[in-house]
Amino acid sequence: MFCQKCGSECKEGALFCSNCGAPLVVQGESDNISNIPDHLVMSILTTLFCCIPFGIVSIVYAVKAGMSKESGNVEKARFYSKKAFLWSIWGIIFGIAFVMLYGLISFLTMHDPLC
Ligand SMILES: [Zn+2]
Repeated sequence: MFCQKCGSECKEGALFCSNCGAPLVVQGESDNISNIPDHLVMSILTTLFCCIPFGIVSIVYAVKAGMSKESGNVEKARFYSKKAFLWSIWGIIFGIAFVMLYGLISFLTMHDPLC
């Protein structure tokens, strides 16, 4: 686990940070569930502008994250939130790579004297 004050790594189960001495808060399960992002907006944008297959997977995970949040399941909400984020990122990377490749191909064919 990590100290919330100085960010240094502390022994699992330690009550105080070995670096700065701040009391280590045992991860409050219910008070920070609302802070978990479900990345729904990002996944929808990924679907619309980048890569539909990746975006849809991301939306599915985002919705699951939202549902887990509503039912108060922190572990699942975190898990799906991460997945949704990762799939969105992959979708964006794929989308950009695709656009660049497309641009490169059209650039090359435009300057090809044989065409
Ligand atoms: Zn500390």
